[in-house]
Amino acid sequence: MRKKQPERVSEAVNRKRDQITKNLRTDAVPSEYNEALQIMEDYLRSQKKRCTVERRFILQALYQLSSPVDIYTLHKIVCADEGSVALTTVYNTLDLLVQLKLANRLELVSRGMTFFERTLGQEPHGFVICEQCGTIKVLRKLQVLQKFETQLPKGFLPEAYTLQIHGLCAKCQRANAKKKNK
Ligand SMILES: [Zn+2]
Repeated sequence: MRKKQPERVSEAVNRKRDQITKNLRTDAVPSEYNEALQIMEDYLRSQKKRCTVERRFILQALYQLSSPVDIYTLHKIVCADEGSVALTTVYNTLDLLVQLKLANRLELVSRGMTFFERTLGQEPHGFVICEQCGTIKVLRKLQVLQKFETQLPKGFLPEAYTLQIHGLCAKCQRANAKKKNK
């Protein structure tokens, strides 16, 4: 079966993405990384495939990030740290991680940008997204999300849920007001 190729995006989307990921924070490797690596290695072994260093780098980079990342940015991060890695490898590895439930695929912004985040070790969280500049803030310790769990149908086991609040950030509102007054 042929794999899908990474989506092509416009210049405007590229610019927006660069802005979003400008302030991406890299944390220390969390303890869940080892668990995720074990799951990926076990799966690949069962498929008689090798767990290449590239795959390991990609998994580690994803698990070090504190906010969702798109494939191109993750590609940049991995290449900056580890030298040349093919974009297709990043794409295929993310596909595999989603399949193994080690990563979540998120549609946070319109116009064809897909984001990924690690799943292991994540508490329920939400996102605040500025529709103008694309800034994404992760909201943690959301009591409202934890409350949802008490209202689920009996015996239902939640695997993933997200809350997304779309709007305009303070900076964009100020910029818009300035433009209007000119
Ligand atoms: Zn904004």
